Amino acid sequence: GQDPRIQKISSAIRVIPDFPKPGIMFQDITTLLLDTKAFRDTIDLFVERYKDKDISVVAGIEARGFIFGPPIALAIGAKFVPMRKPNKLPGEVISEEYSLEYGTDKMEMHVGAVEAGERALIIDDLIATGGTLCAAIRLLERVGVHVVECACVIELPELKGRERLGDKPLFVLVNGA
Ligand code: AMP
Repeated sequence: GQDPRIQKISSAIRVIPDFPKPGIMFQDITTLLLDTKAFRDTIDLFVERYKDKDISVVAGIEARGFIFGPPIALAIGAKFVPMRKPNKLPGEVISEEYSLEYGTDKMEMHVGAVEAGERALIIDDLIATGGTLCAAIRLLERVGVHVVECACVIELPELKGRERLGDKPLFVLVNGA
């Protein structure tokens, strides 16, 4: 059966309809952060999965990957690397464009944050279409990093983001609708 911690995590996530626009069911993880047991269990489930996988980098996607990534990185003895929105990082960056529903966006990472041959885990709160995670994978692979897996708290299976990731493994704790 399923890990008994999962149901509590799922119930701690608040769903807000029509935010930020009509038709979107926003999965709000701030209520999960208020539940100290469920938040700890969330981190523990990831740590249990990744502690012996020889991961040297946890790459967290702005903004909510910055909440879950650092405690996981500390617990597994990996460094934390922020994958940021454009023009936020002060040093030299490499960047990757990706398409949104309307237009494009960019993701940036500091040059020198990772080295070729390192093993990375990518963390975000949620996978919808998978476009964001794909951009992060491309960015890391361009500099020779091996992306071991992507991990999210929530997957929206109807949007088929998992298929977009191809054969890159995806691990999630709960499904949202
Ligand atoms: P995508 O690139 O389509 O997989 O979108 C994933 C990114 O958008 C993540 O960084 C999420 O935080 C955010 N996101 C997309 N849809 C939702 C949603 N329904 N609720 C909360 N966040 C979302």
